[in-house]
Amino acid sequence: MDLEFLELTDRRARFIISDTAPALVNSIRRSMMADVRTMSIDDVNFYNNTSVLFDEMLALRLGLIPLTGGKHYLSASECSCNGEGCFQCQVSMTLNVQGPATVYSRDLASADAEVVPADGNIPIIKLFEGQQLLLEAIARKGSAKNHAKFQSAIATSYKYLPKFSVQECNGCKECVDACPRGIIRYENGSVHIADELQCTLCNLCVEACDTHAISVTGDPQRFLFYTESDGSMSCIDLLTTSVESLMNRASELATYLGTFG
Ligand SMILES: [Zn+2]
Repeated sequence: MDLEFLELTDRRARFIISDTAPALVNSIRRSMMADVRTMSIDDVNFYNNTSVLFDEMLALRLGLIPLTGGKHYLSASECSCNGEGCFQCQVSMTLNVQGPATVYSRDLASADAEVVPADGNIPIIKLFEGQQLLLEAIARKGSAKNHAKFQSAIATSYKYLPKFSVQECNGCKECVDACPRGIIRYENGSVHIADELQCTLCNLCVEACDTHAISVTGDPQRFLFYTESDGSMSCIDLLTTSVESLMNRASELATYLGTFG
């Protein structure tokens, strides 16, 4: 397997993955979406809420705020406290804002400096004169298998890269005009794709070719992979964590199968 990064920031990654198979690429995608665990607000104790929103609606909004860090925390089910809540499995955050004011995610004061909102500018609610919001939010670890709020990869997709071949081109250039992306070039008596990353495998070039000289298919060994993070972890962490998860599951299966050997 080979990996070539075209773009890599904390929030976005685009890379070519080659010498692999569709099933493995799809497994990585699914693992990124569902296996990677993050911290999210899971419980809220309201002490005073005189805003226009119900407690439940505010709790839902708070839960959807991406939180950073928390690698060393355990999920409630793994922790030795048996779900009662302790410093190993939960983080307390307090929020106290008096109106008139707009409450932002940055107003959440966390007990752990590592576990904080990934973006401080997320509006939660607008308070008017005399209104107050006073609460304690409890963040816990979880995966998107339990709730979408734990999902760090907000957009993850891949597409096949094209396998483009030409035989006996007569130089009519119909395919050059037919390509909606404008990426087919006629040079030295034949045509080729100038930018294969732009190809959508629409096959309009194949249909435009009267002599049936062009063939375009998806290459089952080369893919363009794209992902975005909500900020709770970097894209490279997302990728490595999801691959580790796949490897762990594969070794669990091997161990299980080994018991039959
Ligand atoms: Zn605990």
